[in-house]
Amino acid sequence: MTAALDADAGVVAEGEACVACGHPTAAHDTISLRYCAGTQLNALTRSCICPQPK
Ligand SMILES: [Zn+2]
Ligand SMILES: [Zn+2]
Repeated sequence: MTAALDADAGVVAEGEACVACGHPTAAHDTISLRYCAGTQLNALTRSCICPQPK
């Protein structure tokens, strides 16, 4: 069961801290991963939507 879901997931790698928001990448769901990837690409400082309190 190998899905190529990370083909366009940006630079966020599992097991690392998110560059955009600093939360563990594992704490992100699919939506927040894409949201943070967009934040990085656009160099934005908007808050994240991770399903985890700060
Ligand atoms: Zn976050
Ligand atoms: Zn993030």
